[in-house]
Amino acid sequence: MPGQPHHVTVIPGDGVGPEVVRSAQRIIAAAGVAIDWETAEAGAEVFKRGDTSGVPQATRDSIARTRVVLKGPLETPVGFGEKSANVTLRKLFETYANVRPARELPGVPTRYAGEGVDMIIVRENIEDLYAGIEHMQTPDVAQCLKIISRKGSEKIIRYAFELARREGRRKVTCATKANIMKLTEGLFKRVFEELAPEYPEIVAEHLIIDNVAHQMAKDPAQFDVVVTTNLNGDIISDLASGLVGGLGFAPSGNYGDDVAIFEAVHGSAPKYAGKDVINPTALILSSLMLLRHVGETTAAAAIEDAVLVTLEEGRAVTQDLARQTGGDVERAASTTGFTDAIIANLGRQPSSVPPRHGWERPSGEATPRPEGTPRPHWSYGAAVSAAVPRATVGIDLFLESWEPALSAGPALEALAGEALKLEMISSRGTMVYPTTGLSPDNVGLLRARFVAREDGAAVPDEEILALLDRVSSVGARFAWTHIEKLHVFAGEPGYTKAQGQ
Ligand code: NAD
Repeated sequence: MPGQPHHVTVIPGDGVGPEVVRSAQRIIAAAGVAIDWETAEAGAEVFKRGDTSGVPQATRDSIARTRVVLKGPLETPVGFGEKSANVTLRKLFETYANVRPARELPGVPTRYAGEGVDMIIVRENIEDLYAGIEHMQTPDVAQCLKIISRKGSEKIIRYAFELARREGRRKVTCATKANIMKLTEGLFKRVFEELAPEYPEIVAEHLIIDNVAHQMAKDPAQFDVVVTTNLNGDIISDLASGLVGGLGFAPSGNYGDDVAIFEAVHGSAPKYAGKDVINPTALILSSLMLLRHVGETTAAAAIEDAVLVTLEEGRAVTQDLARQTGGDVERAASTTGFTDAIIANLGRQPSSVPPRHGWERPSGEATPRPEGTPRPHWSYGAAVSAAVPRATVGIDLFLESWEPALSAGPALEALAGEALKLEMISSRGTMVYPTTGLSPDNVGLLRARFVAREDGAAVPDEEILALLDRVSSVGARFAWTHIEKLHVFAGEPGYTKAQGQ
C-alpha cells in the first residue's frame, strides 16, 4: 500500500555483515522506500550462547511475521553447532529457490567483458546432498544421502520456467548428472522434460553439469536461465559469479511460497570485519531483488541505475575492484565512501549499459513484480503414492566386512535361506562377486544383494527379517550396517545395477 512501510526482518550477521547491510539500508532509505526494519540475530554469537541451531526463536518469529529478510553472512564458529545457520534458515522457511543472477557490470573488468553475460542460476535449495543426512557406516566409511523428490524438482523447475517467462528470457538449461545418477539426477531431468512443453515459447535444453562448467568457462553468454540441483547449483553459481567480477558483485535471493531471504553470495570475510573496506555491491544488488519482491520496482531501478553509474564512472572504487584493475588500493573507496557515491548518483542513468528486459531492469514505470510461483500441479501425498503399484523384490544388505569376496560370497550364499538367493556383492558400487576376474579394492563395506530365488517374485518383510537374523547370528564376520529394499514401482525397477553387473 503506498505510504505504508514494508516490514522486513534484517539480520546484520557476522564479520563484514553489519557493514554491508548498513550500506544497503542507507541506500534504500535515500531512494525513499519506507521500510520498518525488525533487527534480528543469527549466526556466530547465537551458537556461542549455546543455541545449536544458530537461529533463535525470536528471529524465527520475526521472519514468520514479516516473511521478507535481508541477511548478512553468517558464520558457523568452529567448535559450536554443526549445522550452518544459513542453510537452517533456508530450510526452516522452505525457501526452495535459490536465485543467483550473474551479469556483466560496467567498470568491472572480466575476461568476458563486452560479451553480454547475463544469466540467472536457479538452484534447488532444500534437497540433494545438502539435506545433510550423513552416517558413518563403519569407522572408515562415510555416507551422505542424496535426496531428490519429484515434488521438490517440480517446484524448482516450474520456478525457473516462470522466472524465464516473466523476464522474457528465451532459454532454460537444465544441468544434471543424470548420465551417472539415473534415479536422483535422472528424476530431476525427467521432470524438466515433462514440464518443458508447458512453456513452448522458451527453449528448453538439458546439459550434463560438467559440460555446463566447460561451456560456462568458454562461452558464458550462451546461458540465460540455468536450473539445477542443489550441489551442482552451489558450484556453478560461484563459477558464474567469478565470470562477472567475483563475490563482491554476486547477489542472491532465496524464495519460498511464503518467505523470501535476500543475501550476498559471499561469506563474512572476517579479515575485513570492522575495517570499512569491503565491497557492499553484492548485498546492495540483493536488496534490489528484495525491493522488486515487495513491489518497489521503480526504486529498485533507480538504485540499480545509481550502482551502474558509480561503477561505470569509476570515481569510487572499492579495494577488491582496485586490486582487480591494478588500481591504487591505498586510495580505494571505503565501504561508506562507495555507499555515499551511490546515494549521490541516485536519479542518474548509466550511459554504457544496455537496457534489460523484465523485472531485473524494468524499462517503464512498474514492471510486474515476481508473482508467487505456481504451486506444483501434479498430485502428491500419501494416497497418490499408495496407489502406485509396487513390489519389494529383494534387498541390498550393507555389511562391515574386510573379507575377500571369494570367501564372503559362498558364506553369504549359505545364509540366503530357501526363499532368497545372493545375486551379487559389490564394493563401492562395483561388482566383486560373482568374481569378474578383476579385483576392485575392499574398503571395509560390502553390499550384498539378495533377491527371490524365483525370478522377479516379491519378497515379504518376514523373509527380510529372517535373513537379518541369520546374518546377525554369524556376529562380527558380517556386521550389517543398513539395508535398502529393492522396489519395483509401476513396473519400473527403483534401484540401479552395480558396475560390471
Ligand atoms: P568469504 O566469502 O567470506 O571470503 C572469500 C574471499 O572473498 C575472501 O578473500 C574475502 O575477503 C573475499 N570477499 C568476500 N566478500 C567480499 C566482498 N564483499 N568484497 C570484497 N572481498 C570479498 O568466504 P570464506 O572465507 O570461505 O568464509 C568466511 C565465513 O563466512 C565462514 O564462516 C563461512 O561459513 C561463512 N559463509 C557464510 C555464507 C552466508 O552467510 N551465506 C556464505 C559463505 C561463507
